[in-house]
Amino acid sequence: MDPFVYKKGVLYCEDVSLAKIAKKVGTPFYCYSSAHLKNRFNAYKTGFGPRKHLICFAVKANSNLAVLSCLGNLGAGADIVSGGELYRALKAGIPANRIVYSGVGKTKEEMAYALKNSIAMFNIESMEELQQLSKVAKKLGQRAPIAFRVNPDVDPKTHPYISTGLKKNKFGLSREQALEAYALALKDPHLSIKGIDCHIGSQIVELDPFIDAFKRLKELVVQIEKMGISLSFIDIGGGLGISYKDENPPAPQTYISAITDEAKDLPQTIIVEPGRSICGNAGVLVTKILYVKENDAKRFYIVDAGMNDLGRPSLYDAYHEIKPVQQTVAPSYKETDVVGPICETGDFLARSRPMPDLASGSLLAVLSAGAYGFTMSSNYNSRPRVPEVMVYGNRFHVVRRRQTWQDLVAGESIPKGESC
Ligand SMILES: *Cc1c(COP(=O)(O)O)cnc(C)c1O
Repeated sequence: MDPFVYKKGVLYCEDVSLAKIAKKVGTPFYCYSSAHLKNRFNAYKTGFGPRKHLICFAVKANSNLAVLSCLGNLGAGADIVSGGELYRALKAGIPANRIVYSGVGKTKEEMAYALKNSIAMFNIESMEELQQLSKVAKKLGQRAPIAFRVNPDVDPKTHPYISTGLKKNKFGLSREQALEAYALALKDPHLSIKGIDCHIGSQIVELDPFIDAFKRLKELVVQIEKMGISLSFIDIGGGLGISYKDENPPAPQTYISAITDEAKDLPQTIIVEPGRSICGNAGVLVTKILYVKENDAKRFYIVDAGMNDLGRPSLYDAYHEIKPVQQTVAPSYKETDVVGPICETGDFLARSRPMPDLASGSLLAVLSAGAYGFTMSSNYNSRPRVPEVMVYGNRFHVVRRRQTWQDLVAGESIPKGESC
């Protein structure tokens, strides 16, 4: 169910008009539907049925406190990749025992912070990281709960920048390395082996790579348990894709029931770390056309949101559907580049896109922007970060205010007594 539909010719988020929000908060802004977050989370939950599971939302996809709190209240845990994300997850009220810590470059300060808060599990990606964690745990007089991230070497058939489960990628340990790692960890009194983990990539729109990866994990679980290690968790990572254009990814229920079928004989709790598939289609970026410009070859809509606000088109050549907030009647379409105000040729939201005739001042909604949108935004060109708005039925709240110019220079200083 798409929360963004036209009602009487205006694009709404649930029961709130995007035009109304624009009037209140200005443009550009991100707008999220709490109902969509809830639907997608519950789709995962339904897929698991009675099976023991933990749905750890990947905080890097959308880390706004209101989003985390909404999902946390539904029962979600968090998959974090930094101390900052742990801070956010705890601040949003997600219990530490529902938090797993992923990422190849955890620092000892971050490890200590997570240990002090008793998170559920560290997903370890290298032997040096393992040794570091053991040292930190020893210092704190604790046993660190761990899983090893295994690289199952399956091809997720997605964009090369977001494929992570191949041998040539920087993530995880090979299956052979993993077995050695488990043997080592078993002997370490400051480590407590809890599980096994993998994450093969992102925006995966087929079931096969997930099933292949799971089968390979299963084989490893058997080998690991033969070593006298009993595992509580099998963490299958995130990566389920969404429809940006005409992709047709499996529904979360379908994906999860396929996995639980494969896991029939396994007693472990299954952990999943979805990001994009929960929040991607829950959000839009609303922007205003500043100027319309045309030459012989092309029409440009110059809008007030740029690659610093939504980087995916420039970074991954990603497609985001763009709809006018005010529905056009019998529009005539013409090839248009929708570009931002940043001084870079790569600053575009859409290229050679058939768009209806619109005048400057018109609002556009850039769809499917709820994941890796705001979280990847920057202050490039000294542009304040845009506000985030969350809709709850017929109510909306600004859940992050627009940055000011003062915010931009906060923390900077000009050294006294130095001159150039
Ligand atoms: C990014 C990431 C996820 C979430 O990926 P999505 O494609 O957004 O579902 C989950 N786990 C790990 C380890 C990740 O790096």
